[in-house]
Amino acid sequence: MSAQPILSGGDQTTKTEIRFHDTMSGQTEPFVPLVPGEVRVYTCGPTVYDFAHIGNFRTFVFQDVLRRYLKSKGFRVIQVMNLTDVDDRIIQKAAAAGVSIREYTVKYIQAFLDDRRALNLEPPEYIARATEHIDDMVKLIQRLTEKGFTYTSEGSTYYRIAKFPDYGKLSKIDVAGMQTGARVDMDRYDKDNARDFALWKAPKPGEHFWETPIGPGRPGWHIECAAMALKYLGDTLDIHSGGVDLTFPHHENEIAESEAATGKKFVRYWLHAEHLLVDHEKMSKSLGNFATLRELFSHGHKPSSIRFLLASVPYRRQLNFSPESLQGAASSVERLRNFVARLRAEKFPEGSTPAMAERGAKAKEEFDIGLSDDLNTAQALAAIFDLVRDVNTAMDRGEFRLGDAEPVLEAMEMFDTIFAVLRDDDAQKLKSLGIATNAATLSDSEIEALVAERQAARKRRDFSASDRIRDQLAGLGIILEDSRDGGVRWKHK
Ligand SMILES: [Zn+2]
Repeated sequence: MSAQPILSGGDQTTKTEIRFHDTMSGQTEPFVPLVPGEVRVYTCGPTVYDFAHIGNFRTFVFQDVLRRYLKSKGFRVIQVMNLTDVDDRIIQKAAAAGVSIREYTVKYIQAFLDDRRALNLEPPEYIARATEHIDDMVKLIQRLTEKGFTYTSEGSTYYRIAKFPDYGKLSKIDVAGMQTGARVDMDRYDKDNARDFALWKAPKPGEHFWETPIGPGRPGWHIECAAMALKYLGDTLDIHSGGVDLTFPHHENEIAESEAATGKKFVRYWLHAEHLLVDHEKMSKSLGNFATLRELFSHGHKPSSIRFLLASVPYRRQLNFSPESLQGAASSVERLRNFVARLRAEKFPEGSTPAMAERGAKAKEEFDIGLSDDLNTAQALAAIFDLVRDVNTAMDRGEFRLGDAEPVLEAMEMFDTIFAVLRDDDAQKLKSLGIATNAATLSDSEIEALVAERQAARKRRDFSASDRIRDQLAGLGIILEDSRDGGVRWKHK
């Protein structure tokens, strides 16, 4: 390859090389896009048969951190995300509900897009629905048929994996000794079931189908992503990402389909996010231990805490999700917001200190170095929390000057370009999702009225009444701070 690794960095003196771990090679390697300055990314989206669970959102937050980071380094990012709005489960569920596929999926598509906004996930350049790309899939299957990679049986079309010698190269599955001609119709299966898979499925009685040149039926899951990736991003993508459980069979099959059709390498870097665990068990719908975002929101968890927690653990590490870890994330976000508020509001003496300008620049550099190392968000965060600690110490000692705020705020802005948690808009977001958290349903003037009522109770020494109001406010997520002069301040928890 003639292209050189892209070197870039916050300033002229520090040039960080971006490195990503590629599942195909098993190595962490310098990142070099095919076209300089441009990154074409495909991310597997959800199958919209239900609300997406928090394990899915771990992957989507990782993909958002990835695109924000690439953009912050000056790349033009073209990201495609699919919506799988036809598959076995959708067909069954729509049939059971007596509605069309479109009617069944519209609610979950809307919920997914709303959930993404709540987590500050940037919209991809293309969101592609499978059902709007049936022609592209049929054409890709026809190309594969012309090259001899398919066969039909009882109206369905299958991919002949024996014809593709590279089959298994991503997941490192051993296909030697596999029985040729053995087939699997299910879209989701494990490595023990590596077989010829369905590209196009003949309809069963009563099922929804499309009338096409390759017969009536519907697409298999794997051909959906391959067809949409090739359509929008060309024969070779820079990055294909998804959850680690998609490596086999989904991504292995996408490679078999696209590379057999084009004769070219499909993907330059495969990035896979590890599982999210709940109490150390893999989270999945089949295990029943999943939580949707909405369930978490209605239990009082903020969008910013969830985003922070999901982003804070590097994507290739397993993340254990627990009430304690969510609480920790909420405190971290609070600490960072308070820090920025203090920088902006406190009256510091005039002047500036060169050491503080250096300190801000150092934090930016370390933050960037962390992310450049395969998106090590934990390392990047450590750089920010070190900065917060040092600056708070300087402020407490009276060693901080007015002109020192700017370089420190710059580092915080750089942090927020990626983490996107500093804006205090959780209550608004929950309100717009129609989720009535207690704090979100009380206006500031209603809170003020309760606070005044409590003050009055205290004045007449009715402490049981004042305690009751305090508890009521605490239950609404409002914390009261009594000051020595008898006044009181309140804030959202
Ligand atoms: Zn996919």
